[in-house]
Amino acid sequence: MMPLLFLGHGNPMNAIRDSIFVDGFKKIALQIEKPKAILCISAHWYIKGSKVTAMTHPRTIHDFGGFPHELYQVQYPAPGDPELAQQVMALNPDIQIEPDYEWGLDHGTWSVIKHLYPNADIPVVQLSIDYMKPTDAHFEMAKYLLKLREEGVLIVGSGNIIHNLRAVDYDNMDQIDYGYQWAIDAHDEINDLIINKKYDQLIDYKNESPEIQFAIPSPDHFLPLLYILGLQQENEKVTLFNDHLVGGSLSMTSLIIT
Ligand code: ZN
Repeated sequence: MMPLLFLGHGNPMNAIRDSIFVDGFKKIALQIEKPKAILCISAHWYIKGSKVTAMTHPRTIHDFGGFPHELYQVQYPAPGDPELAQQVMALNPDIQIEPDYEWGLDHGTWSVIKHLYPNADIPVVQLSIDYMKPTDAHFEMAKYLLKLREEGVLIVGSGNIIHNLRAVDYDNMDQIDYGYQWAIDAHDEINDLIINKKYDQLIDYKNESPEIQFAIPSPDHFLPLLYILGLQQENEKVTLFNDHLVGGSLSMTSLIIT
């Protein structure tokens, strides 16, 4: 059974510069047997409907603005895996998942996967996050992906647990362990819910504390975490890494489930 990963991707610049977070991604890859393929649920493919990338050569999408030229030059030419896409579509006849030939790999995927597998030699498929679905449906939907883990597919969620972009202190974006008090509190509360497997409360985060509300102003960067937790089996444990706040209102907290 392949482990599960949730990766806090943060600033797209993490794709091209060294940091303790990049070190964390590289280290975690060493703990994982080489996967047959990767299925990534990225915060940046948050659309109406469920789609799975089904092309043989997904393009590298530079889905951000205002960054240095160098970042737009990055290519991550991992192949797609149309067969895996077909398999994802067939997992549950009650959930309609369409094949997609236009998207590709967005930065939620490539900016982190490139540190895990720099040779881009492992096929990567993305599954969209359907914004029409209620929160619990994402947690439940993930369970249908279990079979893929048994077949050597590494399932990765890419987002940020604490992600309030409107509140970011851009002047201190790279200051590690710099968080506003509400972010520090939300971070402690959410980590406690994760470690103690209080997943019902995470699914129902909109009824949790005001700090948590402020930490998750929109679901896109949080939902990838729910896919990963939804796939955890009874006998598996969560290990946190890259567990730091940055920029006041973001967390890079990542986890592996083994
Ligand atoms: Zn993002």
